[in-house]
Amino acid sequence: MKSRYTHPKVLSFEFYPPKTEEGAASLKIVHEKLARLNPGFFSVTFGAGGSTREKTFETVVEIQSKGIAAAPHLSCVASTRNGIRTILNDYRDKGIRKIVALRGDLPSGMLSAGEFRYANELVEFIRKETGDAFEIHVAAYPEVHPQAPNADADFNNFKRKVEAGADAAITQYFYNAEAYFYFRDRCERNGITIPIVPGIMPITQYSQLFRFSEMCGADIPRWLRKRLECLGDDRAAIQVFGRDVVTELCRKLLEQEAPGLHFYTMNQSGPTLAILENLQFWPSAA
Ligand code: FAD
Repeated sequence: MKSRYTHPKVLSFEFYPPKTEEGAASLKIVHEKLARLNPGFFSVTFGAGGSTREKTFETVVEIQSKGIAAAPHLSCVASTRNGIRTILNDYRDKGIRKIVALRGDLPSGMLSAGEFRYANELVEFIRKETGDAFEIHVAAYPEVHPQAPNADADFNNFKRKVEAGADAAITQYFYNAEAYFYFRDRCERNGITIPIVPGIMPITQYSQLFRFSEMCGADIPRWLRKRLECLGDDRAAIQVFGRDVVTELCRKLLEQEAPGLHFYTMNQSGPTLAILENLQFWPSAA
């Protein structure tokens, strides 16, 4: 069977900017451990509305200085064109060449008076301002973005981001591999050829995962939810079960030609490494 992608599979790891000195010290160790796998890049999240602007910048610059590419997330909600232009110039000056372009969600109570409404406008702006200076990654939602009126509208909105100049997409996490395959096939049927990289969320505990999933519209299938409920507060058991479930998900995705994996690490190396070791796909994880 002809391979969908000509590039080798890419591994990437997502961090959030640490809030404390202890968090920063711990992230250095996590980064060191994950860097041994020689990922394509590390990405660093951005608080919508600019709340982590400096911390995201510092974290990105520090990671990039250690030799593996760092990709800042940049959300445009509540931003001005001038503000975004300044951020892009600052990153360009530091040699950053990848960016994850997002709309973002404003914290509740914060009203948007920004100049961008949707991520496609940000992608268009980045391309217009900086040409090909950045490789642009965007978000994709195989299980449909929670605010979208329906799956077709959401898909067309995703297509707008690609047409505006996105080079790759990273998906929201999911546990239904079929949702990813369906979305990826739909992209191909519609002439979208950029890599759609599955976002992988390791399972380490139930209540937090449940809360996150409610907010971002990720479905926890009934069988998985019921099994996790039975494990209750037994964190060790959840970690072993979660590792095995997510390993199988990753195996299925890679076997069926996913172009790579993007791990939402939550600034921990253990759960991600456990999955990669189990998977035995990236030999350096062993
Ligand atoms: P968009 O692509 O703009 O889509 C948002 C909604 O608007 C969708 O329902 C879409 O269907 C609709 N829409 C899009 N374009 C149009 C249009 N032209 N007309 C009408 N409707 C439209 N959030 C953060 O705050 N910081 C982060 O660092 C961050 N990182 C993320 C990384 C990944 C890989 C992913 C998957 C999500 C991340 N998020 C982050 C969450 C993201 O910001 C939210 O999911 C947000 O609600 C949507 O952002 P988006 O870029 O996908 O928006």
